Amino acid sequence: MQNITILGATGSIGKSTIDVLMRHPKLFSVFALTANSNVELLLQQAQLCSPEYVVVADPKQFEAAKKLFSENLLTCEVLAGHEALEQIAGAPEVDIVMAAIVGAAGLLPTLVAVKAGKKVLLANKESLVMSGDLFIQAANKYNAEILPIDSEHNAIFQCLPTDFKYGELSSSGISKILLTGSGGPFLNLPLSKLHHVTPDQACAHPNWDMGRKISVDSATMMNKGLEFIEAKWLFGLESSDIEVVLHPQSIIHSMVQYIDGSVLAQMGNPDMRTPIAHALAFPDRVESGVSPLDFNQLSNFTFTEPEAERYPNLILAMQASNAGQYATTTLNAANEVAVDAFLQGKIGFIQIAQVNEECLQQTSPHNLDTIEAVIESDNAARRLGLNIIGNISQSSMQKVGT
Ligand code: NDP
Repeated sequence: MQNITILGATGSIGKSTIDVLMRHPKLFSVFALTANSNVELLLQQAQLCSPEYVVVADPKQFEAAKKLFSENLLTCEVLAGHEALEQIAGAPEVDIVMAAIVGAAGLLPTLVAVKAGKKVLLANKESLVMSGDLFIQAANKYNAEILPIDSEHNAIFQCLPTDFKYGELSSSGISKILLTGSGGPFLNLPLSKLHHVTPDQACAHPNWDMGRKISVDSATMMNKGLEFIEAKWLFGLESSDIEVVLHPQSIIHSMVQYIDGSVLAQMGNPDMRTPIAHALAFPDRVESGVSPLDFNQLSNFTFTEPEAERYPNLILAMQASNAGQYATTTLNAANEVAVDAFLQGKIGFIQIAQVNEECLQQTSPHNLDTIEAVIESDNAARRLGLNIIGNISQSSMQKVGT
């Protein structure tokens, strides 16, 4: 029986994780569930999973959560705040931590789990984008097992040789990692119409059902850019080792090409329960609830190159990755505030890339060799991003006024 903490239980990945866990009550038990503020859903999940702890990250929700849990006669302990998140991520009773908080908020609790030597199922790609070197060093030092949840990285992991050594592609006979992406909901939209797309249109992904932040990132392909950076850290790759390929059907989740001409692909219906079940049970396999592929029903598979003009965020992420850790941390923070501003209707869709680019241009290279420096750099980029967003909103209002 493995004990699991789910960081970000009330999100899209968290819900899929609980769905898989509930299919295997003899293999897994839930130690703790966390939310930011959605206490009603946290209560329903606690009724289903009987955890020992629940944590609401937002301390303002603490009293409401305690009242709700006691009215419903739940005996688990209710905690609040970011220190409590870290406490349950590193608790000695825990074997597995699902790191599924969205954004930079996931960094510190995920790192605590790594430093406690847990089996960490990594959905929070931002941890690696912000602190890749520190993160990988900590995983090695504390013997943490990192298993990728992002469907692309999970697919690559499944297609690599079982004895693959970090960064050693050529000695494994590998010539390329092919990172696939759907292209999002605006793959075929005329470029001139991108100015007018709404948050709901951007969040309506054609194949995947995800949280709103990652859905917008999929529409801009920043998500693929963050995954490009994530793949470099996870597997020890150079930028030139990775090629991004558009595959709008989202059936192939990524591929590994070998020097003899073989290409190994991992396929499946687009449902996050597959990589979650794979990582939970690794190296065994368990049923996930995902229906098998029906090859008689599959439409043609297509593959194309992403257009730079349509996806400037992808290009920015690749450039940031080559510039170094300060640039990927800056880009991640700028993008978080820009996506938030877009979702709140403060800036347009194409201005997300404008904020990201200006933020990168206005940030000088700096060293990020401690976690404190990473957090300071993230905060500085958020302040800068917010200023840029303020200027953009002001100039659009002036245009409306003239
Ligand atoms: P969601 O927005 O659906 O869920 C986010 C979770 O994080 C919720 O539990 C939310 O709580 C919690 N949360 C939000 N803000 C904070 C905070 N400040 N402190 C603590 N907890 C917080 O996100 P997803 O599930 O879509 O994504 C989670 C992570 O997984 C992201 O890093 C994403 O990139 C990655 N990922 C997601 C995929 C998907 O299919 N969804 C695929 C691959 C990777 P509350 O509900 O209370 O707001």
